[in-house]
Parts: sequence; structure tokens; C-alpha cells
Amino acid sequence: MRFVVDVMLGSLARWLRRLGYDTDYANDRDDRELVRIARAEGRVLLTRDSALATRKGISTLLIESQALDEQLAQVVRAFPPPHEVQMPRCAECNAPLQAVSPDEVVEQVPSYIYCTRKHFRRCPGCGRVYWPGSHWERIHQRLKLIRSRGCDADSP
Ligand SMILES: [Zn+2]
Repeated sequence: MRFVVDVMLGSLARWLRRLGYDTDYANDRDDRELVRIARAEGRVLLTRDSALATRKGISTLLIESQALDEQLAQVVRAFPPPHEVQMPRCAECNAPLQAVSPDEVVEQVPSYIYCTRKHFRRCPGCGRVYWPGSHWERIHQRLKLIRSRGCDADSP
């Protein structure tokens, strides 16, 4: 599943990339440009704008919540994530991340991270290094919950 994301949903776009979704996002696009990309590349437009969400000729998903977790839950329910999050993408530039050994990133990560983590990934586009952190784990827990409960994920 490929997305193009409305300028108002930058945080959602970054998390969708981390979860492996091919997510096109830039913070300077107008409605016309968003619709053009959705149409040209067959991407689903994620937006909080109900007028934009009813645009003809493209697939859209109207994002209902302002809370990131709820937004992610809504997208994951509508479009289950690609291959179990095996291939996360760079939050900044959408390139699929590559697994690298700790030794390869020793110069790039804080020493306490180097000492406490075993798994790192690097973006071949911008060189950023990623590792599982508490926020990441929280989102994955949330995703598990969404999957295990199906449509009841919003219930406490
Ligand atoms: Zn990158």
C-alpha cells in the first residue's frame, strides 16, 4: 500500500514510514498537488480535510482523530501493514532502511545506545541511523493490540 499524506499529518507520515509503508510526504503541498500525486502514482491520500477526502478519481482515507496513536490505528485497520514491519523506511526520506551491524554505526550513535542495543538500521538515502526505542516499542505494542482486537481496538 502506498500513501501520499496531507501537509497537516507530518507525524503520521513519519510513523507510517517507520512501519514500512511507502509514504510520500512534504510539508509544502497544496490540495491540487496532493491530488495530482495520488492520481499519477496510484497512492491513497490520507487527509484530515473532509472536502479533500471526497475528491473524485482517487482513493482517500479521512483521518478522524488528532491523536497519533488513533490515527495510526485507523490506517492500520484500513490497510494492514506490509510484511510484518520487516522493512521499515526512513522517517525523513521514505527510503527502505538497511540492517547494519553495531560496529558500522559506532561513530553515529550515543555510547549508551551502542552498548544497550543490538539491532540498527541505516538509511541509504540520508545516512540516518535507527534503532528500536521506547516510543517505537509502544507503537508496536499498539499495533499488536489493534491486530488482536480487530475493530475493537479503540475500546479501553
Ligand atoms: Zn533517510
